[in-house]
Amino acid sequence: MEKPNLDWENLDFSYRKTPYRFVANYDNGAWEKGRLIEDDTVCLSECAGILQYCQEVFEGLKAYTQKNGDIVTFRADLNAERMIDSAKRLEMPPFPKEDFLRAVEETVAANKDYVPPYGTGASLYIRPYMFASGIVIGVKPSTKYQFRLFTTTVGPYFKGGAKPITICVSDFDRAAPKGTGHIKAGLNYAMSLHAYVTAHANGFDENMFLDPATHSFVEETGGANFIFITKDGGVVTPKSNSILPSITRRSIMYLAEHVLGMKVEERPVKFSEVKDFAECGLCGTAAVISPVGKIVDHGEEICLPSGMNEMGKVTKKLYDTLRGIQLGEIEAPAGWIHKIA
Ligand SMILES: *Cc1c(COP(=O)(O)O)cnc(C)c1O
Repeated sequence: MEKPNLDWENLDFSYRKTPYRFVANYDNGAWEKGRLIEDDTVCLSECAGILQYCQEVFEGLKAYTQKNGDIVTFRADLNAERMIDSAKRLEMPPFPKEDFLRAVEETVAANKDYVPPYGTGASLYIRPYMFASGIVIGVKPSTKYQFRLFTTTVGPYFKGGAKPITICVSDFDRAAPKGTGHIKAGLNYAMSLHAYVTAHANGFDENMFLDPATHSFVEETGGANFIFITKDGGVVTPKSNSILPSITRRSIMYLAEHVLGMKVEERPVKFSEVKDFAECGLCGTAAVISPVGKIVDHGEEICLPSGMNEMGKVTKKLYDTLRGIQLGEIEAPAGWIHKIA
């Protein structure tokens, strides 16, 4: 295969078919080993459990070309473990960790010419997912499932530098207190779309969801965790059982504490204290950190001191450290980077 002729630096975040994907089926109480295929379509019964009762979980991670030319993944073992937790909560048979990692390895290796070159800011996005493929009409878990993993080349999240975004406090709830907010399931996204479209229609980039029980603590956005920088340079991230445990956020908190020597806290964060923070960012695989410049609560504006022009200084340091590790410019903590090719 030859490197496809793509305008790497100007790709957006959208689906572009790559040649190979991985598929494994679950039937008679066991997962098969799985294999690479070329067919990008899924053939299902009209009565498949995924279509009727939405039994589906997914993951998202990236492969990068590092400075020395190596193609690597970042902490894929945590994605494998999180998908196991997600599956259990939806009564799905967990896809084994070693098979998940093999699926990542084989699919990225097979599509390696679609991993963007170092220095372009682009990457190969990897989407593992599993769903109920068996017939279900009475409400119960399916007996058949399919695991799939495909890749798609995506462009740099920020073209021409990260501009701070404006977010609004949502009138909608993302996750119930003992619901499914902590797992990565399509159903959480289906129900967040109305809030997302409403926020956009009102001129905001994203929602800040508060805890659904009291609406007084910060949770997260539809697809990214919050970090806040205190005025004395510490990092605070909200703690709640209904927040999805972002691997990006966990990595940033680790680096802040162990590499940059910063004070870190994971604790409940009252919305009323947000006005006292110096910087705010959204953490996720897609953007690493998106800086937040303004938070609007029903007409009342909180303008972060870091402003609307650029990423806050401390946020930038965290961003540069994590990006540097992913791109092989900074030495990674043991086990974070896995070389594929
Ligand atoms: C995927 C996701 C995140 C980000 O997690 P990463 O592992 O950092 O990509 C945050 N919040 C929600 C709701 C998510 O689904």
